[in-house]
Amino acid sequence: MPSDAYNWIEQSLATIHKADWYRTVQTIQGHTGAMVQMNGRSLINFASNDYLGLSSDDRLIQAAITATQKYGTGSTGSRLLSGHRELHRELEYAIASLKQTEDALVFSSGYLANLGTVSAIVGQRDLILSDQCNHSSLKNGAILSGATVIEYPHCDLVSLQTHLEQQRDCYRRCLIVTDSVFSMDGDLCPLSGLLDLADYYNCMLLVDEAHATGVLGKCGAGCVEHFDCSQRQLIQVGTLSKALGSLGGYVAGTKTLIDFLRNRAPSWIYTTALSPADTAAALTAIQIIQQEPERRQQLWRNIDNFKLLIHQLSHLKLLPSDSAILCLLLPTAADALIAARHLQDAGIFAPAIRPPTVPTSRIRISLMATHTVAQIEQLVDVLSAIKIVSTTSSKSVRGDR
Ligand SMILES: *Cc1c(COP(=O)(O)O)cnc(C)c1O
Repeated sequence: MPSDAYNWIEQSLATIHKADWYRTVQTIQGHTGAMVQMNGRSLINFASNDYLGLSSDDRLIQAAITATQKYGTGSTGSRLLSGHRELHRELEYAIASLKQTEDALVFSSGYLANLGTVSAIVGQRDLILSDQCNHSSLKNGAILSGATVIEYPHCDLVSLQTHLEQQRDCYRRCLIVTDSVFSMDGDLCPLSGLLDLADYYNCMLLVDEAHATGVLGKCGAGCVEHFDCSQRQLIQVGTLSKALGSLGGYVAGTKTLIDFLRNRAPSWIYTTALSPADTAAALTAIQIIQQEPERRQQLWRNIDNFKLLIHQLSHLKLLPSDSAILCLLLPTAADALIAARHLQDAGIFAPAIRPPTVPTSRIRISLMATHTVAQIEQLVDVLSAIKIVSTTSSKSVRGDR
């Protein structure tokens, strides 16, 4: 009898299609900056996390080439077994100095940093309180840890406190986890309120600075610096792949924490070290974000300008945001796909984000320091022609979560 054990895959795909949730990858040609080449056309790029335009910066490219020539392409094994290069430690010291922490540890991606850290610091006897809108890597790290997980409503300190009041004493350790800039909405976590609750209820706090590093804070250290909380005790994770234009992730915190993770985080211990090229590019990026605050200032001028222009169009509503991520809500997944197609036809690359990634479909716009005023005006022109019949306000959508 022929085996049909795999038939479910086709059926499952058909269901995904039916819900307008089916995803495909678009092929990009050449460098990705404020413009991208797609299908032989030039599009203005609002789909990139390369907030400062560093991924095509000559200095990062040269650093990657030099490191490859000096050390080769691969790092040949895990750091504990095969040893690491001084570059790896230099990068970790640079991250620690940016974040004003005692030490840092780099992982092969931000996703792995979150999986490894969360699952190393809590276990079955512990409690995780997790913002409902957290990144997938935090949610899966929580599952992997075996701890009891409670999701609290988005940024809701009152609800979080109620859970702590009722549950904290039933567990050994407690970890509160949150994105600092929420990756699909662009709003910020209430950091100092979270820190106060963590202190009062004897909890650890882990914040994911993936979309904040290089973007927020006077020195570009992120949301923790932005809210003036660098001196308070917490665990910071993030990525080297967004504003830093490279690849990899990191954890920054006390010496003891980092030492513990080197001994207990499987997604660091049992995986190959970051490549020399990625390590060198990230190290150069950190130097640039510290030495060239004008890039961050230009990014914020672009954000403010875009918000101002959209504000003048009364039929378009952006989700509240304090970052370079700006979202336009649409009533259905199909509407979001039509809008994304319309944008692409008009020379603009901005993705539709649909369930299950988010509860409400939207066009997600990422601004970069390297966008020109004219490019942002063109985006607003094209957006203004989108017909939106949404009856849902951003407030009620938030409440629904
Ligand atoms: C992108 C992202 C990650 C994952 O980082 P990678 O380095 O791309 O794996 C983790 N957390 C958040 C909030 C992110 O946006």
